[in-house]
Amino acid sequence: MRSRYKPWAADLIDAHPEIVIPDPENQKGKWHEVFGNVNPLHIEAGTGKGRFITGMAKQNPDINYIGIELFDSVIVTALETVLAEEGGIPNLRLLRVNAKELQSFFEKGEVDRLYLNFSDPWPKTRHAKRRLTHETFLKLYEAVLPEGGEIHFKTDNRGLFEYSLTSISEYGMLLKDVSLDLHANEPEWNIMTEYEEKFSKKGQPIYRLEAQYQT
Ligand code: SAM
Repeated sequence: MRSRYKPWAADLIDAHPEIVIPDPENQKGKWHEVFGNVNPLHIEAGTGKGRFITGMAKQNPDINYIGIELFDSVIVTALETVLAEEGGIPNLRLLRVNAKELQSFFEKGEVDRLYLNFSDPWPKTRHAKRRLTHETFLKLYEAVLPEGGEIHFKTDNRGLFEYSLTSISEYGMLLKDVSLDLHANEPEWNIMTEYEEKFSKKGQPIYRLEAQYQT
């Protein structure tokens, strides 16, 4: 997700280090101290403008959430959502970093669940390694999740979904739940992402899976 250039975004982010954590490598192994509790930690890689992660954090106050996004111009919208809430969203933090660096920010087992929503599909075969469900990323997530940790993934992109089913199965993970049309029978707990709303309004089916690492 690219947004138009927002020269003010970096300043707003810098002004709120309590929400967009500027030194996540220094919090590695200490996220419970950052949140001030021992609740489970769920993270989203590729948060975009943050509708999902802010919605999840409001829906589940007893779970801590971290949204991870590459671009200032995008994550700043998630920050604005937090700032617009009276009292903020105490169980949510944001990181403006590359998800490739997850191991620099989290200890093994420190993250209880990882969400991927509408990840960039990288349709060309020569770009397969960039897909966030490529084997190298699955290995990276495994390094921060506990044994038996889970990935929950949604996309509108059939090619990426098919690729991900294969990649996840070949990695030896257990597919626990697969939907080829999430909105045909939308669970009441589903929080729509920005992309999910856009594509489902066009009538496209939304694919979803839950996968678990081996115990
Ligand atoms: N999850 C949002 C949604 O469903 O509306 C945004 C989807 S958008 C297609 C993918 C987002 O992932 C973009 O904002 C992009 O900048 C971000 N992204 C892609 N690769 C990333 C990475 N390695 N680390 C962090 N963010 C990444």
